[in-house]
Amino acid sequence: MYRTLALSLWVGLFAAFAAPQSARAELSVVATVPDLAALVKEVGGSKVSVTALSLATQDPHWVDAKPSLVLKVNQADLLVAVGVQLEVGWLPVLQSGARNSRIQRSGAGFLECAAHVELLEVPRVPVNRSMGDVHPGGNPHFLYDPRQARACASAIASKMAALDPDNATAYHKNLAEFGRRLDRARQQWEKRMDRHRGTSVVTYHRSWVYLTKWLGLVEVATLEPKPGIPPSPGHLAKVIRLARSKQVKLLFQEAYYPSRTGNLVADKIGARLVSLPGGTDFRKGQSYLDHMEQVISRLDKALGR
Ligand SMILES: [Zn+2]
Repeated sequence: MYRTLALSLWVGLFAAFAAPQSARAELSVVATVPDLAALVKEVGGSKVSVTALSLATQDPHWVDAKPSLVLKVNQADLLVAVGVQLEVGWLPVLQSGARNSRIQRSGAGFLECAAHVELLEVPRVPVNRSMGDVHPGGNPHFLYDPRQARACASAIASKMAALDPDNATAYHKNLAEFGRRLDRARQQWEKRMDRHRGTSVVTYHRSWVYLTKWLGLVEVATLEPKPGIPPSPGHLAKVIRLARSKQVKLLFQEAYYPSRTGNLVADKIGARLVSLPGGTDFRKGQSYLDHMEQVISRLDKALGR
């Protein structure tokens, strides 16, 4: 008991006097989704350690707030989130359990990217989440648009520079270099997808609106009647009628949604169902650019018959 107390006092003193934040070798960052973790890595390089709290195979609306995630948030200097209530079902639980004042909503180490992008589908009248719509503050799936991802990377660089001024120059240099690579890739993706402009598609959840707007695809319906509400037979009958009238040949969705309904609808309308990765496979070392390349090339191939 005495030893434990002595040890914790010593650790506390050491932490207080020997390791001021700015002198640390690495800024410890946690990101709610793997796309954001990948952007943090681009901007932070070797100056940061970064962990994603969810996987690309998980629906980011519904993540289990496990104790192992609380520990990660407890040790973080910076918490980067998407915002607009994407993580409202699980992130506040982790923040309150983490006992870390830095990464609370009002803390210097909290960044919500939604505040730095051009949001779509922001309701004109207040929407109550109890009505089932999981996008009550606007659509949170902006990371499928590289221009919005670039805006997030820029906000991340400014935040990291403020928290860790010694490395501010490195963060801004990395951001500029990443921005150049991202712009080049985006122009190539736009060129490749240009022949599909105006093509009608159906999706599962309203998570592709930024991508369809960016690339000029026309999303005529979603299998969910409202974001977060599972497909119902009555709604699907409407989707099938509409998709037939618009001659939809492609239905796509994130791989974490069940494919049974999508396959059923695709069969009825004579279309193809394509399951796409729901995010960057950050744990396996994938970059945001590689992830988007995968999404675009699979869409191009599926549409290009
Ligand atoms: Zn959503």
